[in-house]
Amino acid sequence: MRILLVEDEPRIVRLLERGLGAHGHQLETASDGTDGLEMADDGGIDLVILDIGLPGMDGQEVLRRLRARRPELPVLMLTARDDVPSTVQTLDAGADDYLTKPFALEELMARIRALSRRRDQGQAAVIEVGDTRLDLLARRAWRGEREIELAAREFALLEYFMRHPGQVLTRSQILEAVWEYGYDPGSNVVDVYVGYLRRKLRDKAGRDPISTVRGTGYRFEAPPG
Ligand code: CA
Repeated sequence: MRILLVEDEPRIVRLLERGLGAHGHQLETASDGTDGLEMADDGGIDLVILDIGLPGMDGQEVLRRLRARRPELPVLMLTARDDVPSTVQTLDAGADDYLTKPFALEELMARIRALSRRRDQGQAAVIEVGDTRLDLLARRAWRGEREIELAAREFALLEYFMRHPGQVLTRSQILEAVWEYGYDPGSNVVDVYVGYLRRKLRDKAGRDPISTVRGTGYRFEAPPG
């Protein structure tokens, strides 16, 4: 893959140049957000690794602009801050994933693999269950005629539900499928995000297609018949 790294710390740039090269990836680098945005506009980039703390335009701002131009491009954020608000902001701003510094190269590689898998599965097009429809390429979602704005993680969560209609999905299944690695199984992140998603999917009568299966997890209702 051709990976763009936007990072101002030479030590991390060198580490990734060696590490990603050894895994057969081609690395392009930019040391500030303006250059990074320009290089990401190049259609040949498959994935962006974006540092949050950059001189000039910071990583959050780069991410917002990048999302407007190339919504389908997978973006992995690097963050030095391990606090929940900045993580949630990062994901809500459209990052597909994030990694907190310092990190192990193997962990970065695992996340790159997960993101490229998701991108490849995304070539499959449109999923429709009942009146909920997902366009995986354009990353857009609708209930009936109404388009629903979803953050990257909410989209991934809805996609997982819609690939398993009518099945009871446990919290740990969801955590593994949508968050993929090393998340604290005691975390309530699944419940929080299912709550966000259900609110967004609610119709005028207050109904949404996800139901809680007490003590177990959740189910996306298959259409009747
Ligand atoms: Ca930095």
